[in-house]
Amino acid sequence: SHAIELREVSKRYGDAYAVRQVSLSVAPGEFLVLLGPSGCGKSTVLRMIAGLEDISEGELLLGGEPANDVLPRERDIAMMFQSFALYPSMTTRENIAFPLRLRDPATDHDPQVRSTARMLAIEDLLDRFPAQMSGGERQRVAMGRAISRQPSVFLLDEPLSSLDAKLRSHLRAEIARIVAELGVTTVYVTHDQAEAMSLGDRVAVMRDGVLQQVSRPRELYARP
Ligand code: ADP
Ligand code: ADP
Repeated sequence: SHAIELREVSKRYGDAYAVRQVSLSVAPGEFLVLLGPSGCGKSTVLRMIAGLEDISEGELLLGGEPANDVLPRERDIAMMFQSFALYPSMTTRENIAFPLRLRDPATDHDPQVRSTARMLAIEDLLDRFPAQMSGGERQRVAMGRAISRQPSVFLLDEPLSSLDAKLRSHLRAEIARIVAELGVTTVYVTHDQAEAMSLGDRVAVMRDGVLQQVSRPRELYARP
């Protein structure tokens, strides 16, 4: 079955639709990019998948099971945002261990923390606090914290947009490598066409709350 399926999903705020009748499915291990201009409803779609926003109409399935009413923490989903949202009083080690400790307080998570840090090349940063790291380093740590418990779905909302161009293209390649290594089903939101084309197995284009087309990157603009 699909990892994620949206069936005519809409989101209404009062009388206004932020998202209208979006139908979309994501295969296990697929990297789907949601592309569109600011305000077109990308984040809202992502937040509905994560359970951070109620669905007004339509149906969400996760792993083939109806999920509209499943609590966020009971979804096997990790999410990463533009803002790093690391805990400022925690070191990198503690930030990465935090979701693991929440789920399983009794176990020593250091081996998992170390293997996550190795994958992200942040082993040298394990004892630093967020304020002692650069923006790029903090974003790596944020990614480590998101993936340390090996979720089956990884949602990224404009994760690179606060970084400069050079760092952005570097981290973009890193994300592609890590996601491929994990084999995790990924939905990645961006307004950046080049980013979408380079990362996505498929690209879903949104405009004014509506899904316009879903295609492989090379077919995106080949149509009349
Ligand atoms: P994007 O991620 O593509 O920038 P969003 O999903 O954040 O777009 O927003 C889609 C639309 O929904 C926008 O018009 C936005 O103003 C509206 N919207 C988002 N959140 C709320 C809210 N809490 N209340 C009212 N309107 C909202
Ligand atoms: P980037 O290009 O990744 O943003 P920077 O040029 O900002 O990196 O930082 C370079 C180095 O300086 C990094 O290794 C980072 O750990 C260190 N660094 C940056 N800001 C601080 C800080 N406030 N305290 C200690 N070290 C810092």
